Amino acid sequence: EMIPPTVTSFEVEDGKVWMTQMFFVGEPEPDLVAAILAEAELADWAYESEPVEDRDWVSESQRLLAPVREGRFFVYGSHDADKAPDDTVNLLIEAGQAFGTGQHETTSCCLALIDALGTEGYAPATVLDLGTGSGVLALAAHRVWEDARVVASDIDPIAVEVAVENLAVNRAIERGIGEDRPGIAPLVADGLDAPAFAEEGPFDLVTANILAAPLIFLAPGIAGVTAKGGKVILSGILQTQADEVLAAYVAEGLTLEKKLERGDWAALQLAR
Ligand code: SAM
Repeated sequence: EMIPPTVTSFEVEDGKVWMTQMFFVGEPEPDLVAAILAEAELADWAYESEPVEDRDWVSESQRLLAPVREGRFFVYGSHDADKAPDDTVNLLIEAGQAFGTGQHETTSCCLALIDALGTEGYAPATVLDLGTGSGVLALAAHRVWEDARVVASDIDPIAVEVAVENLAVNRAIERGIGEDRPGIAPLVADGLDAPAFAEEGPFDLVTANILAAPLIFLAPGIAGVTAKGGKVILSGILQTQADEVLAAYVAEGLTLEKKLERGDWAALQLAR
């Protein structure tokens, strides 16, 4: 029996190291581990196993997927459908192959900043969610700004498939989402490398929960598709990296409006 795996990436100086942890009840069969790695196209990954303390891993992994309440948003999996309140903006996001079920600080910081922008009366007509993963931020923006056109892009085609499914599921639950409205346009692209960004932009709001290194690399591109007076929300930044990321955007003419810190993470809201 295997508990759902957790995948973490660490940035090193000139690249990325990816690490995944798999928890098994009992001794893992080497053939089973090999089959799982092959299925995930990770057959050449090195692995080692060690016993861990006996805890209720099933409850712990379910707790990790507990619903998230952030500002006006309630992000939940279908196993918690009965817990969705009446007075929140409810986003159904199943745990799956794309990042973004709301629990991670990098996501919840973005949800908090989107919520606050809505409360402050900011009303973007065009939104870009770069690195959309599960589509959670695109959906959140779409619910706050009902008339906004939202482009949801990711380098990973599977993430975009998941985001499209999540959009359809949420539309089915909450009649009207995406119907008779500008809607959410999904897009597979590496950074801003697609003509669609120029065609759809400039954007009044760009959200990008990626990592510090790609955010620095993408600074000119993100600044270039942001409308004058528009806002940019950056996340996926370790607190120790925040100054470096900020400097890259200040060099592109953006100014810092807000900084949120949670755990090891920081999120920045900038204005162009
Ligand atoms: N937006 C979701 C959230 O806030 O929970 C998911 C964020 S997840 C941390 C980062 C996403 O960025 C992943 O889905 C990844 O595939 C995507 N990504 C990484 N590099 C990218 C790039 N160069 N261009 C577009 N997307 C990228």
